[in-house]
Parts: sequence; structure tokens; C-alpha cells
Amino acid sequence: MIIPIRCFTCGRPIAHLWEKYMELIEEEGMEPGEALDELGVDRYCCRRMFLSHVDLLEESLPYTPPRLGMPR
Ligand SMILES: [Zn+2]
Repeated sequence: MIIPIRCFTCGRPIAHLWEKYMELIEEEGMEPGEALDELGVDRYCCRRMFLSHVDLLEESLPYTPPRLGMPR
């Protein structure tokens, strides 16, 4: 869905790096491994959080019921 805030294994905060990671891949044309090296994500537990993540938030939002009291 969305990138987890912390690595499941070591607990390092990783969510703040997601947008920069995607930017490096899509705009700079880097390979995922190079982008992670650039961001200083060196532990393999943290690297797998990025490599295995599938960003489905935009696709699932239309199927989310609106909350009561929330503006539409
Ligand atoms: Zn980790």
C-alpha cells in the first residue's frame, strides 16, 4: 500500500526516503541498487523494504469508502 514508516527488521525509519528513491529511479534513470547506495540504505533488511514494495495506494483509493464527517 504505502511504504512502511520503519524497516520491519531493524526499525530504521525509511518512509522519508521513498519519494527521493522514486525520483532517482524515474528521473535520474538509476538502477534501484544504485539509488539505495546513493540514499545510504546499506543494510539488506532495509533494502528489501524498498525493492519488494509495490505502491498501490493510488489504485486502491477509489475503492475506499468515505469516512463519516470527512469532507469529500
Ligand atoms: Zn533494516
